Formats: sequence, structure tokens, C-alpha cells
Amino acid sequence: MKENILNLDETQLSDYLQLLDQPRYRTRQIMKGIYVKNYEEFSRFSDLPKALRAELDTTFLLRSFTLEDQIVSPKDDTTKFLWKLNDGMMIESVIIYEGKRTTFCISSQVGCALDCKFCATGRMGLLRNLTSGEIVEQVLLMKKLSRQPVTNIVFMGMGEPLLNYDAVIRAADLISDPEGLCISRKKITISTSGIVKNIRRLADEQQPYSLAISLNAVDQTTRERIMPIARKYPLGELLEAARYYTRKTGKRITFEYVLMDGLNSGEQDAHRLLKITRGIPSKINIIPCNSDDPLYAPPPDEKVLAFDQIVNGAERTITVRNRKGWDIQAACGQLYAGNRRKSKQKTFIESIPIKQ
Ligand code: SF4
Repeated sequence: MKENILNLDETQLSDYLQLLDQPRYRTRQIMKGIYVKNYEEFSRFSDLPKALRAELDTTFLLRSFTLEDQIVSPKDDTTKFLWKLNDGMMIESVIIYEGKRTTFCISSQVGCALDCKFCATGRMGLLRNLTSGEIVEQVLLMKKLSRQPVTNIVFMGMGEPLLNYDAVIRAADLISDPEGLCISRKKITISTSGIVKNIRRLADEQQPYSLAISLNAVDQTTRERIMPIARKYPLGELLEAARYYTRKTGKRITFEYVLMDGLNSGEQDAHRLLKITRGIPSKINIIPCNSDDPLYAPPPDEKVLAFDQIVNGAERTITVRNRKGWDIQAACGQLYAGNRRKSKQKTFIESIPIKQ
């Protein structure tokens, strides 16, 4: 089977070209064709000798996905894409337009092992990790389809990015390469459900990307109930890792807090949320839940407002997310919400129109 050329970084590509006795500058020419010009066929690389184009075509794939479905929500100004991978599995990605800001929300795994109760992806289980090339390919494909230049990337699609750490960092490096896709590192956000050891690793390695933590509960019991990963990484350890991260990197964190009626959305929860995050340079995004499971329904608007007022009353940067766009990505993996499974294929996600 041909290898996806997007899985190669510059050094690996250069090593390969050396084996073919190609001059050094060929590496940059090919990188430019892939990431700047966004060519989808090797025949388009007109600055390469014909023989090399043929060799590349025999050895590598330049695209490994096919677009299976696309749903536009004019009201929300979002477009959701369903991609079929080389092995027949499916993933989703989303473009969210908000004024001049254009966010690509991308997946890092097919399915997810973490089984967060409000998340449909969790119900799939983990089918496999995406390669770095497959992560980058989502960006390249959506660049072609987006009506505006991409400004932000969020790893909030299917999967837990910090459980596919190496591929995610490698993809983020490629996406931010100044001579390639050139997306600002600060505008690339990795969202985690709380993989403590890899939050610390991000800090220790001084990774330049932004970090979001999907918190969703203010006490251990509730967090364990809705996010089983909390058994392995308890809330106290998670908050300590968040403190460590901000101290070590000097960067602010985003806490995502998905509101679920009767579970985590009372006034006392709002007060406790402020209390447990005090002293951690952070902002908090409050997102009414969009689960397809009635057990995890969003609170009524007045409760969301009351939560907001308590949180906004504090001297903190608090944002209550507009539902726009977040209907389809309220937390990592929420892309899957609102979709139905196709009967025979466990891995298939059949799309239905995005909820308004
Ligand atoms: S919310 Fe994220 S971490 Fe949790 S099951 Fe869904 S995809 Fe996995």
C-alpha cells in the first residue's frame, strides 16, 4: 500500500530524496507544493522533473480521504464534513465561521476510549489513532473548501488528542510551519479531557500550542460519573497539573465547562467552579450540553443565565459560549452528537442536519 506523504516531516522527506540522488532544494519544493500550493496530485508539481513526479506518484499518496458527506448549517454558519479514510473508517471535521475568525475543528482519533457519558464518540470506543498525516489532511482538505482563510485550529473533534500525543504534536508542528500552512501556534488549541501526565509533558516540553481542559464538574464524584477518566486522573490532580502548566509555560489555560441539567449546573456549582480554578490563570467557556442522550440535557436558558451571572460576577475572563457552532462541538468528540449510526457499520457516522 502506498504511504501517505503527509506522514513525512521535512527531515524524512529529505532523507528519501537523498536516496534518489535529488538535490537538497527539492525538499522545499515538494513541501511548498504540498502545504502552500495545496496540490492534490503529483502531476501538478510542475517545478519537479517528470521522472521524480512519476516516482513520487508510485511511492506516495497525496490524499487518502474521500468526502463522504457535507452538511452546511446556514443559521449557525458551520459546515461539517464526514471523511472516509483509506481503510474505510470515518471521521468528522467542522469549519466554524464567526466574523473574520474561521476555526477548523479536527479529529485526532477514530472513536475514543474515554467514554464520557455526554459524548457520542465515546460510545464508539477507540477504533484507532489517526496518523499525523491524517490529522494534517483534514486541514488541507478544508482549506480548499473553506470560503475564508483558516485562522484557528482546535483539536476538539473525535478522540482524546493527548492519547495520540506524538501524532498530534507532529501535526501541529506541520500546521504551524512558517514555510508551510503557517497557522499561528497560539491559535492552535489542544483540548483534553484531563490526561494529567501529558498536560505535564506539554509543559515540560514547552509546547507552544494553547491548551483547553474539558472540566465539566466541580467535584470528584460528579466528574467520575460523567467522565470515567477522572478515576485515573482525579480532579485534584488535574487542577494541580493545570497549575503546573500555567506556572511552567506562563500561559493561560481555557477551561471548558459543559452544562448539564441537574448534574453540574446549579448555583453552588458556579460558585465552586470559581473557587477551584482560583489562582490558575485561565478563562472559562461555558457551553450548554448538546448530547443526544436526554440524561445529559442542557439546563433551561434561565439556569444557564443564572450560572453565567454568578460566574460573570467574578473578576475573571468568563465567556458563555454562544450556541453557534458549539451545537456540533460542545466538547471534544461532540461532533458525533446528533448523528445516527448506519445499521451495519459500527464505525460509520451517518450525518443528519446540524441542530438549530
Ligand atoms: S468528550 Fe472527548 S475525551 Fe470524552 S469520550 Fe468524547 S471524544 Fe473522548
